[in-house]
Amino acid sequence: MAWDFETDPDYQALLDWADAFVRDEVEPLDLVLGDPYDKADPRHKGIVKPLQQRVKDRGLWACHLGPELGGKGFGQVKLALLNEILGRSRWAPSVFGCQAPDSGNAEILAQFGTPEQKEHYLRPLLDGDISSSYSMTEPHGGADPTLFTTRAVRDGDEWVINGEKWFSSNARHASFIIVMAVTDTEVSAYEGMSMFIVPAGTPGLTIVRNVGVAGEREGSHGYLRYEDVRVPAGHLLGTEGGAFVIAQTRLGGGRIHHAMRTIAQVRKAFDMMCERAVSRETRWGPLAKLQMTREKIADSWIEMEQFRLLVLRTAWLIDKHQDYRKVRKDIAAVKAAMPKVLHDVVQRAMHLHGALGVSNEMPFAKMLLGAEALAIADGPTEVHKITVARQVLRDYEPVKGLWPTAHLPTRREAARERHAEVLEHYAEALEHALGNE
Ligand SMILES: Cc1cc2nc3c(=O)[nH]c(=O)nc-3n(C[C@H](O)[C@H](O)[C@H](O)COP(=O)(O)OP(=O)(O)OC[C@H]3O[C@@H](n4cnc5c(N)ncnc54)[C@H](O)[C@@H]3O)c2cc1C
Repeated sequence: MAWDFETDPDYQALLDWADAFVRDEVEPLDLVLGDPYDKADPRHKGIVKPLQQRVKDRGLWACHLGPELGGKGFGQVKLALLNEILGRSRWAPSVFGCQAPDSGNAEILAQFGTPEQKEHYLRPLLDGDISSSYSMTEPHGGADPTLFTTRAVRDGDEWVINGEKWFSSNARHASFIIVMAVTDTEVSAYEGMSMFIVPAGTPGLTIVRNVGVAGEREGSHGYLRYEDVRVPAGHLLGTEGGAFVIAQTRLGGGRIHHAMRTIAQVRKAFDMMCERAVSRETRWGPLAKLQMTREKIADSWIEMEQFRLLVLRTAWLIDKHQDYRKVRKDIAAVKAAMPKVLHDVVQRAMHLHGALGVSNEMPFAKMLLGAEALAIADGPTEVHKITVARQVLRDYEPVKGLWPTAHLPTRREAARERHAEVLEHYAEALEHALGNE
């Protein structure tokens, strides 16, 4: 029997340390520091670097990576347990060296990069000295890569890139951008796109604007234009035509890591809801005494625990198969479930806080928007539900005859036939006994 929901004591001790460290040292940074991706901010060196060193000393730095790259190679289950702590704070992933999109970019550089690319881009990224960006979505065809038009054409020893990309997060602070472009229009999009590393400041690359979400005046999502952007041939990441496979590798990991951090956000909202329920007095006593408050708390707890188990089981499956393709259905399910559970729990928590809840003195509005962003980033919920259904239906065959397999009269008849001899024998015996009465 290998089913086990316990965490081994050594790792639990590390988690306990991380929990206290994030609560005491890292969460306060969210309230006083700016963008975690702005490595040029002098406060970064003064405040963040020493905290990162403490994480390194504990052996918890960049845990999403294998030991050959300076990580611990913990695997996804251990990572999930850590991420459900880190997800509480905007700054925590950066302090622990596993912030998106750098974590995903590091993963694909590690897996597909040349030794030169690793030395130039991966090493400083892993050391937390630079930021990066991932440039895939296009303004006209976001969720569907088969509609992408950004082109890269080989010209001697260089590639020339032209096109526009949308929502390339953190491009403004990135030292390099990984961009996906069409390199062969004669084959399908799955074989005709390639990835390139474009260093910041390459001529022809411009940020049209930094798009913000909701009330942000200037945001962090780059609307990028590539106009005759030239990169050396050695900046191709992986093989020519191999972008789709690389993107799937990247997104598989990225989605499950977002889900792990989402557990933390859900729990944060849940804790605030419970605190409010036992604190706020009404004429009938605390909110917690009212049945509809109790229903909100029960529903939230159940949904949170269900989601957590789905995430942990998916993490366990990734560890077991070591191949994201074999866990596509599970990752898609997690991705589809994630925005809903966060939205629903945050909405209830916000509601129980009344006017304070919708005010800018509590974090709920931002969290609610975060839930909606999770429903879109890395592909909209609909696309992931379609993946789940398609994969599930692969295991089903059409019924052979007219009636469904579960049709009761048909099943009853089959059961009668199967046990005819014994049933007849007892029917006769019963008749006999009744006749003797
Ligand atoms: C916070 C955030 C960060 C992001 N960061 C990055 C990044 O760093 N790099 C990057 O490249 N991209 C990034 N994106 C972009 C993201 O990947 C896209 O927004 C996403 O793929 C959806 O594309 P779209 O916005 O163009 O929406 P559309 O493709 O226009 O979809 C709009 C809506 O149409 C519906 N829809 C679309 N397609 C289907 C379908 N096949 N089936 C059913 N319904 C469908 C859905 O309701 C969907 O919400 C980010 C997005 C967000 C919100």
